[in-house]
Amino acid sequence: EAGREALRRLIIDVADFPEPGVVFKDITPLLADHDGLRSVVGGLASAGRRPDGTAAVTKVLGMEARGFILAAPVALELGAGFVPVRKAGKLPRETHAVSYDLEYGSATLEVHRDAVGPGDRVLLVDDVLATGGTARATCELAEACGAEVVGIAVLMDLSFLPWREALGGVEVTSLLTI
Ligand code: 5GP
Repeated sequence: EAGREALRRLIIDVADFPEPGVVFKDITPLLADHDGLRSVVGGLASAGRRPDGTAAVTKVLGMEARGFILAAPVALELGAGFVPVRKAGKLPRETHAVSYDLEYGSATLEVHRDAVGPGDRVLLVDDVLATGGTARATCELAEACGAEVVGIAVLMDLSFLPWREALGGVEVTSLLTI
C-alpha cells in the first residue's frame, strides 16, 4: 500500500557495492526523510508490543552499525533500554562473543555480558536481513546472557536469501520484502 511504496522509493539500489555482483540497498535517503524515519521506527516498535499495546520487551538490541540508528528510537518508543551489539574489539568491558561464517571468511559480534540477563525479554533490530547470519549470532549472544529473544524486527528482508533457515522458529517482522 501507499506507506510501503513511499518507503521503497526512499531506498536506492547501488550496483556492485561493496563488491562486484552485489546490489546494496542504501537506506540513507530514508533515514534523512522525517516521515519515512518516523514510519519505520513506529513499524519496528510494533514488533515489541503485545496485542493490548503494552511493551513486550525490556531491551532492544541493535546491530552495528545501521541497527544502532533504528534500535535506539525503537527502544525509546517501547519504554525499553537500548543495547549495542558490536563488531569484535569495540566494547570495553567483559563480553560474550559469537563468530559466524561469511561468504569469504568470518565475522565476530560481541555484547557486554551484563547488558541483558535472565528476566530480560529482548527485541533485535537491524536494517536488512540477508543471509540471517548477523541476526542468528545476535540471538545467540542474547541467549548466552540468559535473556529471552521475543523477536527480530527489520526494515527489509531479502527474500531470495535463506535467512528463514538460519533463524529457525524466531518471530520475524519485516516492513518490506525485496
Ligand atoms: P546477513 O548477516 O543477514 O547476511 O546480513 C545482514 C547485515 O548486513 C545487516 O547488519 C545489514 O546492515 C548488512 N547488509 C547486508 N546487505 C545489505 C544491504 O544491501 N543494504 C544494507 N543497508 N545493509 C546490508
